[in-house]
Amino acid sequence: MDCTSCQRALIDYVYDELHGDERREVSRHLGRCPSCALEFCQHREELDELTRAYAEAPGDHVRQALRAEVERRFRPPLWRRLLGAWTRPVPAYGVAVAGLLPVLVWVISAAAAPEPREPPRAEPTSARDFAPREDAPPPRIAGYDASTVLSHEPGLM
Ligand SMILES: [Zn+2]
Repeated sequence: MDCTSCQRALIDYVYDELHGDERREVSRHLGRCPSCALEFCQHREELDELTRAYAEAPGDHVRQALRAEVERRFRPPLWRRLLGAWTRPVPAYGVAVAGLLPVLVWVISAAAAPEPREPPRAEPTSARDFAPREDAPPPRIAGYDASTVLSHEPGLM
């Protein structure tokens, strides 16, 4: 095949409308001839641009509906998701976090607990409890007359 007949068949070749021996000959010629190969590439690029320009891109609502449908159909069942959460590998810091959990519970319970009340004062029961305290002022004695003699002491009368 020469360049002229290749150029004539090139458009049909680009649009994939050549079949059989003719298509094979054009392919063989494009492999040997750089100028025809360049022209083929230009036609191909123009066709791709046209395709891109007229291709209708799906809207956002179509994409969202498609995503929801895919998720609905291919979502694993509940038991498999639970099993996956249970068998998920624990990272190294997970051990530290688990170790801090009792401390956190203690801090929260200590903050939430009411203030401890003063224990009730014990009534004095021993002689030491009646002893005067050192920091207390000396006791005052009122209504005592030293000149009177106690009458119940028989030896003095
Ligand atoms: Zn050629």
